[in-house]
Amino acid sequence: MNSGGQPRRPGRLLVISGPSGVGKGTLIGKVLPHFKDAVLSRSATTRPRRSEEKQGREYYFLTLEEFEDRVKAGDFLEHVKYGANKYGTLRSEVVKQLDSGKSVLLEIELEGARNIRSRMPEAVLIFIAPPSVEELRLRLAGRNTEADVEREVRLERAGEELASQDEFDYIVVNRTVDQAANELEKVIKSTLEGGRS
Ligand code: 5GP
Repeated sequence: MNSGGQPRRPGRLLVISGPSGVGKGTLIGKVLPHFKDAVLSRSATTRPRRSEEKQGREYYFLTLEEFEDRVKAGDFLEHVKYGANKYGTLRSEVVKQLDSGKSVLLEIELEGARNIRSRMPEAVLIFIAPPSVEELRLRLAGRNTEADVEREVRLERAGEELASQDEFDYIVVNRTVDQAANELEKVIKSTLEGGRS
């Protein structure tokens, strides 16, 4: 109930997943401003900060020790090892927002998406797919944010991720940014308007 005694419409949890390099971040950046009652959860990671990234903006960048302390404290809703690094969704980024009626988007990889599904079955899972594996390879190489070894790890993982699409409620193929952003916006809109529960 809110202060006026009206039942408040609870926020929804939306998980956006898909292989590294597929363009999840770009699409979310385009779509999120259209939803004033939705926020993007900021994850914690032990991955080194890229030069264009800021502490507390893209991620909370933690040392491994800090990350493990927060695991022990039960601060994560889910956390995984991905490549050489750890990533996790902080409860504090999600729970308060949902309670206050905001919807929360998580941009996370497959294992995290599966963990969220089993812990919070009401979450809506959206998969962003590349037009082809070859295109994904080109995009990851063009992005140039990873060392060769890390990029290969990500591509290997992409195979498993692409094979998991049936587990998702929606699939958006990222052929062009505008087309995919448009489709993603429609999916989020229908979810938030109660098109799917
Ligand atoms: P990047 O290092 O490129 O920022 O992220 C690598 C992968 O980790 C991406 O697929 C991204 O979606 C995923 N990721 C980011 N934050 C989290 C998180 O909190 N939990 C999980 N499971 N994956 C995450």
